[in-house]
Formats: sequence, structure tokens, C-alpha cells
Amino acid sequence: MLFDTHCHLNFKAFDNIVKKVIDEAKKTGIKNIVIPGTDINTSKKAVEIANKLERIYASVGIHPHHVKKYQLSNINYQKDLSQIEKMLSENKKIVAIGEIGIDKHTYQNTKYESYQIDKNFLELQKIIFINQLKLAKKYKKSAIIHNRQATDEILKIFSDNQSLIDNLNLVFHCCEPQNKILDFAIKNKIFIGVDGDIFYSKTKQNFVKKIPLELLVLETDAPFLSPFKKTKKDYFPNEPKNLKIIAEKICEIKKISFKKLAETTTKNAEKLFKIKTN
Ligand SMILES: [Zn+2]
Ligand SMILES: [Zn+2]
Repeated sequence: MLFDTHCHLNFKAFDNIVKKVIDEAKKTGIKNIVIPGTDINTSKKAVEIANKLERIYASVGIHPHHVKKYQLSNINYQKDLSQIEKMLSENKKIVAIGEIGIDKHTYQNTKYESYQIDKNFLELQKIIFINQLKLAKKYKKSAIIHNRQATDEILKIFSDNQSLIDNLNLVFHCCEPQNKILDFAIKNKIFIGVDGDIFYSKTKQNFVKKIPLELLVLETDAPFLSPFKKTKKDYFPNEPKNLKIIAEKICEIKKISFKKLAETTTKNAEKLFKIKTN
């Protein structure tokens, strides 16, 4: 049985087909799914879906990309953070806060006009990231960390505020393949999420070899990061059912049996999100 620790069933690509997509995933042995939020709306949607279905869990939070909203408008981020806090305090199927973090990628395809990474934006990302880590601690939830081209910034935040992450269960979702992040994860017992991009990234394949099995968790990041190349018509949307072939690929890379990988990564995910399933 497999556990998809990161799947955006709350995104538009899955409107009206959530049930079908979950049923197909179940048929390939995917038993549990965590749906991460990226802003207020997708967080609410994640909770809504999780409330209706067994073994489906939600995570709520503001993604660093969507911090742009607060830089460009007069909307107060404090107000949105209180909404996140309200959800955390009310709902038992929320297992984590996330995805939260720092993102220095310049997105071409974004709803925000003139998207650029500047000092103010990064400062605001950092404030909102830290505030959400504090919320995770307050409500005894785990945290799903999104890092894109920002390993140094994130490791600095953690090192400067060690108390923020003490006794907090964390995962570096879609982990950047860098030794310094791996070393930090091992030292601090932070889980590492691996996705379908291992099919086409040699660097990621080599990275997977080095991840200790006891820290490894599986994720699809569906509808993104399909294991299939962009030229194939089934590139979008990626689906949770593809977790199985991702798991098989990891077995091949790490030279371990499917049974061992499935059992260990599912146990890791349950530990990460403090849930017990059978
Ligand atoms: Zn992410
Ligand atoms: Zn994601």
C-alpha cells in the first residue's frame, strides 16, 4: 500500500473528477493521500475534499508564490493567516500546514502581473513562512516545505531559528537534489519527498540513491510533475495512480524490493503526519 504525501486534488485540473481519480489511484494500491493548499481558496477546497472521503487528508497554507498577492495589493496577509489558523483549530483532518517556504523561481506562467523576485518579495515570503511555522507548532501539526532555488535561504531561516523547527515534523517536498539539504535533513530528521521527475532527471536519480530509506516519502505533486515526458499526451494532468510507477522506479534505483519500499515509505508518511492507518 502506498501513500501519496503531496497531491493537489484541490486544483482546477481535477474539478468534477476527484472521485474517479481517487478510485483509480486505489486500484493501483494508493491508500492515503494528503492534499496541500497553496492559498486560502485551495486550502478550503483541500479541507472540503478531505472531510468527505476516508484516508484523504488536508494541509492548509500559503505557498511562497502566492505571497505575491500581498506585495501587489492592499490585502493584509495577517487576515489570511487568521483564516488559516481558524481552519487549523477547527478541523481534525488537517494534518499539516503547507505548502509553505521560499521560492526564487521567476514564473512565466502566473496570474500575477510583472512577476519578479525582488528584495521586498523575498522578505515578505520569509515573514509569512516563519509565521506559518509558528502556527504549525501552536497547533501541533506537521509542515510541508516548498523550496525552489532557495535552499540557502531556507537553511539559514532554520539555522537562525532552531527553536522554530524543534519537535516539528517536516518534509522537504519535491526536494532539491543538493547535498547540503540532504545533510541538514539527516541531522534534523526531516523527511524528503520524491516525485515523478526522477524519470527524466539524472541528478535526481543520483540524489535518490543517497536518501536514507527511513527519511523517504513518496509524492506525485499531481497535476504537475508527471513521470511521462512532456511530449506524451498523458503529461497533464499527472494523477495519484502514477505513484506506483514512481515507486517502482525508486526500487530500481535503490535496488530494493517493492514491498520494502512501500512498507517503509508508508510508515514514514504516517509518522510525518502523525496518523495511523491500516
Ligand atoms: Zn511545491
Ligand atoms: Zn505542490
